[in-house]
Amino acid sequence: MLPAIRLISKAAELAARRHNGMARKGRGNEPYINHLAEVANLLATATDGADAELVAAGWLHDVIEDTDTTRDEIAQRFSDRVASLVVECTDDMSLPKAERRQKQIADAPHKSPGAKLIKIADKISNIGARIHSDPSAEELEDLADYTGWAEKVVAGCRGGNGALDRIFDDTVELARSTL
Ligand code: ZN
Repeated sequence: MLPAIRLISKAAELAARRHNGMARKGRGNEPYINHLAEVANLLATATDGADAELVAAGWLHDVIEDTDTTRDEIAQRFSDRVASLVVECTDDMSLPKAERRQKQIADAPHKSPGAKLIKIADKISNIGARIHSDPSAEELEDLADYTGWAEKVVAGCRGGNGALDRIFDDTVELARSTL
């Protein structure tokens, strides 16, 4: 396997290229890479840099779902574990949104410990992006709806990392305080 710093910078570069031109949902339509950087950094911080493959998978967690990148390519360029973590965080986009959401809740408890951490970091980032300083009624509804669902997904992912669980709870509390 590549040294940790190389593995992670290579993942960041591939993510930047593959998600180029995409915008994330939520506040200010930030470039998509901002979301990936936030998720990767939450994982690196919460685990105190102990797991390079986890952080690389954080950079890449949406790359199969949102681009034409395949599991094989990730396994080849990075490692089988990085590829598996990304696959575990990939929704079946052929399903309607309501079913995908239900499936995330049902599948969460059966994910690997690393995938559970990525899912928590993903929800922290996505709730945070939906907290607006001067929200419209539609934005408030979206925040309430997303947060309620994210709590159900995260209920099945908790317990592996206390720091990440606490950041999630703080983010939910902040979201609820604006509703
Ligand atoms: Zn994501």
